Amino acid sequence: MKILVVGANGQIGKHLVTLIQDRENLEAKAMIRKQEQASFFEELGAETAVVDLEDDIDTIAKAAEGVDAIVFTAGSGPHTGPDKTILIDLDGAVKTIKAAEAAGVKRFVMVSSFDTSREAIQAAPSSFAPYVAAKHYADEWLKGTNLNYTIVHPGRLTNDQGTGQVEAAYKVERGDIPREDVASVLAETLADESTIGKEFQVVGGEVKIKEALQSLR
Ligand code: NAP
Repeated sequence: MKILVVGANGQIGKHLVTLIQDRENLEAKAMIRKQEQASFFEELGAETAVVDLEDDIDTIAKAAEGVDAIVFTAGSGPHTGPDKTILIDLDGAVKTIKAAEAAGVKRFVMVSSFDTSREAIQAAPSSFAPYVAAKHYADEWLKGTNLNYTIVHPGRLTNDQGTGQVEAAYKVERGDIPREDVASVLAETLADESTIGKEFQVVGGEVKIKEALQSLR
């Protein structure tokens, strides 16, 4: 199974490409936005595609040609304004979904935010609300497609070492989760077809990732 990782040069993205390359039946294609980011992935034996999420759908679809799944783990980050939140976290995500459809890629795994409900948009501080709204509508768009989607809602990301254990359910208490464990959740999600059509929140916990995903309702 070949997976296009969108946002591969990000912190979760790098963990994910590394994990995918370590697995027997998976191979990664890293979508990055600068050629100078390629060497990390080439050393792992992964293919790369240099595409900016502000490019058009056809350009993203070209990168998606021949892959079996897409993981969207890109994000504009906290150091840019609401303009980039709209262009990357919302429009970049929707363009990637449309690119998946155009390239005939059925499986799509979205890295969302912890709570993207309408209530969360209303409750968010004004500086954070555009991001929550962007993630809300990107998730809604994905749910309205015929793609085999899974939406993963991680808690607050840390750079702690992964534990391989999480708590995952449609709703869990807010908490932290190492980025390394989020990457493991994404790799396991790709391997577990029972996650198709589901969305779940995930934080650090005491259940092995594989079992936590198998017990999702
Ligand atoms: P990250 O390290 O900031 O990675 C984001 C990636 O998106 C980077 O590789 C960046 O590329 C890429 N990107 C940004 N703009 C782009 C563009 N125009 N075209 C192509 N790629 C672009 O983030 P992370 O820590 O891995 O987290 C991934 C996502 O998880 C976040 O973006 C956020 O939406 C979500 N999340 C975060 C939290 C949290 O607590 N922070 C909680 C839940 C969910 P460059 O490397 O070139 O900059």
